Amino acid sequence: MLKKKDIRHIYDSYSQLRKMKRVNELRPDSKPKALNLNIIDSCNSKCTMCNIWKNEESVDITPEELGLILSDPLYSELQHVGVTGGEPTLREDLPDIYRTIIDTLPSLKGVSMITNAIEERDSKKSNYGYL
Ligand code: SF4
Repeated sequence: MLKKKDIRHIYDSYSQLRKMKRVNELRPDSKPKALNLNIIDSCNSKCTMCNIWKNEESVDITPEELGLILSDPLYSELQHVGVTGGEPTLREDLPDIYRTIIDTLPSLKGVSMITNAIEERDSKKSNYGYL
């Protein structure tokens, strides 16, 4: 069963999309060129200026859901996607997230990621040996 904060998160995401669509309808030449994408709401750090690490669980967009959203014509001119969180490397399906972004966006020129890089290369907990 969805918790109140999960419903709030979904509502916020939907509101943002609607707001961007409205702006695009008013100014058809105003399609977004860059997107900062929060793919997780949990973290393995405890920075004092941030509360994300206090979240006990995170309801995250799946690669399939992301693909559906990014297929909207609104994103047809998107050139750069920055992946952030929380801590993106905590997601085991991070490669699928990037694959979806790359495969779905026709105008994409680059991707990036904001990470705290706490996961170690040889750590058993690390999801990606190449990070
Ligand atoms: S690394 Fe980033 S997301 Fe994690 S606690 Fe620090 S500021 Fe927050």
